[in-house]
Amino acid sequence: MPFASVPEILKELRRGGTALLLDHREPDSLGDIICAAEKVSAKTLNFMASEARGLIRLSLPAKLCEDLQLEIQARNPDFPLQKAFTVSIDARGLLHPGISVKSRAKTILTAIDTECKASDLVRPGHVLPLRARTGGVLIRAGKTEGSMDLARLAGMCPAGVMCEVLDTKGEQMRLNQLKRFSSKHNLKMCTIADIIEFRLSHEEIIERLEDVEMPTDYGNFRLIAFRSMQDPEPHIALCKGGVGDLDRFGRVIPRPEPVLVRVQPECLPGCVFGTQFCTCGKSLAKAQERIEEEGKGAIVLLRRYPARVEEMVHPHATSSRSPAVPADRRDFGLGSQILHSLGLNQLRVLTNSRQKIFGIEGFGLSVVERLSLR
Ligand SMILES: [Zn+2]
Repeated sequence: MPFASVPEILKELRRGGTALLLDHREPDSLGDIICAAEKVSAKTLNFMASEARGLIRLSLPAKLCEDLQLEIQARNPDFPLQKAFTVSIDARGLLHPGISVKSRAKTILTAIDTECKASDLVRPGHVLPLRARTGGVLIRAGKTEGSMDLARLAGMCPAGVMCEVLDTKGEQMRLNQLKRFSSKHNLKMCTIADIIEFRLSHEEIIERLEDVEMPTDYGNFRLIAFRSMQDPEPHIALCKGGVGDLDRFGRVIPRPEPVLVRVQPECLPGCVFGTQFCTCGKSLAKAQERIEEEGKGAIVLLRRYPARVEEMVHPHATSSRSPAVPADRRDFGLGSQILHSLGLNQLRVLTNSRQKIFGIEGFGLSVVERLSLR
């Protein structure tokens, strides 16, 4: 069986099937049978246990592990990217012994249930969760993140079940054996690199970093940092009223209602020194005031990387005469990606500009209102 495309793998996982996930295409590559956790069954686990023979693990998003109080078993600061096994679990009140495939399927489905609480899981147990890194294969190119990403890309709960493939002697199979194994069991194969490439070509490459509470002179906000693949330093969203909040799976909670937003490029002389060359500082302050009054909204501050002091002092000189107007289409793209990542759809835009806002529909956004900042 040749390698399949990522969409073919996703189709297979969506219909409850399994696939083979390989590290890479080199002769020494190892492989795991994987399935989406949401579709796990006793039959699938039995197939893994009897044909693949490795350790059956459950990859879970980091946020869910925190919510369910699944502590990491051991940490080695020298290897921050090593496998992150958490304490083992069983679902509370199992009818069969925890090791049976029926029980393990029940435990997996319990752990990923949106209603599951830490107390619904007994520790230790017979299912081994692995904590996947937030950001998936773009942050850690491992099978834990790969199986989570595939489940998410297939539109399902971002959690996967994996089992290493061993031969009859108990050794891990390598590429050629894995190819024969996949043919024998009619399994589609892909590699971690295939998932990375698919994500890079299909996703907006904005990655959410940390978020912190930010009390300001205008009120209390939440500061969320986003990294774009092109820029060295993070872009910033200052949010209020639950905008950008995450659910326990680390997914942003959608805000279908119209929300007040301001997108502004960073302007050092304007925002820091209150220069009279532009009104950026005043606009930013006004936007914070308005959002505080409203109780909900987001300000996106796009970072700038001026090459020369002259550009730093007169950041608007080359791009536009009018201050606080986004300088180019890249700002719209980046700003839109961040607004989209905050779960927003309908925008009430705080702007003094009459300029058309380009191409934001591609990000599922629409401008329902424009409000002056004066
Ligand atoms: Zn300015």
